[in-house]
Amino acid sequence: MKKQYDAVIVGAGFAGSVCARVLAEGGRRVLLLDRRDHIGGNAYDEKDESGVLIHKYGPHIFHTNDREVYEFLSRFTEWNGYQHRVLGRVGELSMPIPFNLDSLRIAYGEEEAASLEALLVQTYGRDTQITIGALRSSDDERLRALGEYVYEHIFLHYTAKQWGVPASEVDSSVTSRVPVRIGHDDRYFVDTYQGLPTDSFTALFERMLDHENITVTLGCDACERLTFANGEILFDGEVFLGDVIYSGMPDELFGYKYGRLPYRSLDFEFKTLDMDDFQGYGTVNYTMHEPYTRITEFKHMTGQRIEGKTTVLYEYPRSYEAKEGQIPYYAILNPENLALHARYREEAALYPRLRLLGRLAEYKYYNMDAITGEALRFARSIL
Ligand code: FAD
Ligand code: UDP
Repeated sequence: MKKQYDAVIVGAGFAGSVCARVLAEGGRRVLLLDRRDHIGGNAYDEKDESGVLIHKYGPHIFHTNDREVYEFLSRFTEWNGYQHRVLGRVGELSMPIPFNLDSLRIAYGEEEAASLEALLVQTYGRDTQITIGALRSSDDERLRALGEYVYEHIFLHYTAKQWGVPASEVDSSVTSRVPVRIGHDDRYFVDTYQGLPTDSFTALFERMLDHENITVTLGCDACERLTFANGEILFDGEVFLGDVIYSGMPDELFGYKYGRLPYRSLDFEFKTLDMDDFQGYGTVNYTMHEPYTRITEFKHMTGQRIEGKTTVLYEYPRSYEAKEGQIPYYAILNPENLALHARYREEAALYPRLRLLGRLAEYKYYNMDAITGEALRFARSIL
């Protein structure tokens, strides 16, 4: 084993697969392990029984301003140019999310909206965007009241559903991912490069991992093969002197020795319906008291043409309890959890050739482009 591979990488999502490719091209022999029976991590997609291409772990839309990341991934795929638009179902009303000047008209009516628009533009400028926190703490009483409206109708209940705690306990960096727009742009993301891979995410990963220096082993739990003791890493019981890149949960890697890191999970309910079009949008967010947060209809995102069938996905947030079949999806960012993560990070630092990388391992809210950028930089630094 130690003679055969220069690096063992755990997890075939973006973190692991990007590192594998870069190291392989640098002449390193890489063993890439994943416990799932497929590559792609949470970006994995496949056709369901009716032939509709679905994202098995929730809707994934690629978007970035990072040209280097875009160009790297574009070696393995073309993009369909899809620009994500989200409709909010806010009680009886339907309005664009992020909340923008059109949402303002739907919520307040023409006259009041025109007056608020003038105030918004005067305060923040036209075609700008602000955080909900900034609007709620505005100096102007009317803008503060608008901030409360948007908070209560778009953020408060959705956030409580998503995270299972009152919205006030959720880190503001999380809700700030969705801005308030002083303009008419109704796209969810405004990045320069956006889209879905023309074929599929899975095809992108297949091409990225198609390299003579990469060996992929699926259905393999790396925690059963890696051991850490006294500054040494053992793989299958033998000392391994190469690089180990780990993109799973750090508490699991170290036998939960400092306790379990909390994560948030989701229950996914897929439904295939005998119709062409269910909701007219890629995603509709349900921001009030429905038990689910959003419904995604994949055909609108992939552009796939299938008559008389469509598949939709309901997302029900859940706590992650490490039960059979449950998957941790989101780190829960609060000081206590970050402190616990820091202990595992320190433990990992005892092994200089070990790197925790990725959304679970680093306990970060990475988008696909950000983790790709991080993986590119890290793998190049090894070379
Ligand atoms: P993952 O994709 O989770 O890959 C980690 C891999 O490691 C998994 O395949 C896992 O099986 C494997 N693994 C873990 N432990 C072990 C072990 N012990 N042994 C073997 N294998 C192991 N980002 C966007 O940019 N746009 C979006 O629209 C978007 N939508 C999202 C929607 C949802 C519902 C979720 C949950 C995430 C979304 N993301 C989106 C984020 C995106 O999924 C992540 O940025 C990306 O998956 C992170 O890649 P990763 O390699 O760190 O982790
Ligand atoms: N959010 C909200 N209402 C919405 C959309 C998002 O309150 O209609 C909040 C919620 O707290 C969510 C966060 O903003 O967790 C980030 O939203 P994003 O769409 O980026 O979440 P993701 O796609 O990563 O689940």
